[in-house]
Amino acid sequence: MIQPLDHVAKIRPYVPGKPLKELERELGLTGSIKLASNENPLGPSKKAVEALSRYLHSEFDLNRYPEGSGYYLKNALSEALSREGLTVGQDQIMLGNGSNELLDIAVRTFVGAGDEAVMAAPSFVVYAMAIQSVGGIPREIPLTDYRHDLTRMADAITSRTKMVFVGNPNNPTGTSNKAAEFEAFMARVPDGVLTVLDEAYFEYVTDPDYPDTLAHFGKDRDILILRTFSKAYGLAGLRIGYGIAPERILTEMNKIREPFNTNTLAQLAALHALSDSEHVKASVRVNETGKQYLYREFQALGLPYVPTQANFIYMPLGRDAKVLYEALLGKGVIVRPVGPKEIRVTIGLPDENRRLVEALRAVTTGGNR
Ligand SMILES: *Cc1c(COP(=O)(O)O)cnc(C)c1O
Repeated sequence: MIQPLDHVAKIRPYVPGKPLKELERELGLTGSIKLASNENPLGPSKKAVEALSRYLHSEFDLNRYPEGSGYYLKNALSEALSREGLTVGQDQIMLGNGSNELLDIAVRTFVGAGDEAVMAAPSFVVYAMAIQSVGGIPREIPLTDYRHDLTRMADAITSRTKMVFVGNPNNPTGTSNKAAEFEAFMARVPDGVLTVLDEAYFEYVTDPDYPDTLAHFGKDRDILILRTFSKAYGLAGLRIGYGIAPERILTEMNKIREPFNTNTLAQLAALHALSDSEHVKASVRVNETGKQYLYREFQALGLPYVPTQANFIYMPLGRDAKVLYEALLGKGVIVRPVGPKEIRVTIGLPDENRRLVEALRAVTTGGNR
C-alpha cells in the first residue's frame, strides 16, 4: 500500500467543524449562531455583492480562466496603499486563495526538510501545519502574558532557521505586540530569515502603539506582510488574501503558485469591497460596540477574558473547554475551543452577543466553577 512521507504521516489533521445545518439537525435545534471562525457578522460589502450579481447576470464567462496576474486587484491595492503614503508596486503584491495559501507558498519557497521555523504557541495552527508539510521543524515559543514573546522568539533563531511567524494580532489570543518590541525584534532577525507578518486582523486594531510593519518593507528587509479579505471585508467564503513583500521574494514565490490561484469571483468581489471603506468602518464599529458589551458582561459574570485587538475574544476559563463548548452548543451557540481550558468567541452582532452572554450565564453560573 502507498505510504505517505514520514513528515506527513506525523501531522495531526485539522478537524473542520460540521456544517451548521447538519449540527442543528443532530441536536434538534434551529436558529443557532456561529461565533467560531472570526467571520464578519455584517457580511460582505453591498458593493461587492452587487458587482458579483451584475457579473453573473451579464458577463457570465465562468468558462474562461481568471485574470491570472490579478492585474486589476493588485492595481487597486497598490493605489489604496499609496493613499496611505506608501509606494507598493504591483510586483510587490501577490494574491492568494486566502492568505493561507500565501503562507503555504512562502513555506514551500523558502523552507526545506530539516529547516526550522520559529513561531509562538498558541498561535495560528496553519503556521505549524505549513512547516510540517514540507518536513520542516516548528520551534514553538510559549506566549508571555498571552502575547508573542518576541525576545525569546529572537533567541530561538539559529543557523537552521528560515522563517519566523509573527501573528499580529495573534490568533487565538487577540493580542498584539508593541511597536518598540517589534523594532527590537526586527533588529535581531538576521538577513536570510523571512519574517512573515500575519496581519489578518489589522483593520480592527485600536492600540495606537501597533507596529508599522510596512516601514520595514520600505527598507528591503526579508519580510512578507499578509493581509486578507476574509475578516473585516467579509469575504471569507470566496478565499482571497494578499501579501506585500520585496519583489525579489515574490518573484520566487510566484514561480510555484498555481497560474490561476485566485478565482474570477473572488478577484471581482475583493476589488469592489476594497472601494467600500464605509463597510469596513461599519464593521469595525460593530466590533468595537460588541467588544465593550462583552467585556462588561464577562466581568459581571466573573468570566476571565483577554482584552483583544481583533474581532474575537480569548477566554482562559480554567475549566474544561470541551465540556463548555458542548454546553454552549446545546444552547445553539457555537464557539471554538482552542485549548484544554480555553475558548475563543467571535464578536458578533448585538443580538448574537446577547445570546452568547445568556448561554454563558446559563452554563457557567451555579455550576462547578
Ligand atoms: C483568519 C486568519 C487568516 C486569514 O486566512 P484566509 O486564508 O485569508 O482566509 C490568516 N491568519 C490568521 C491568524 C487568521 O486568523
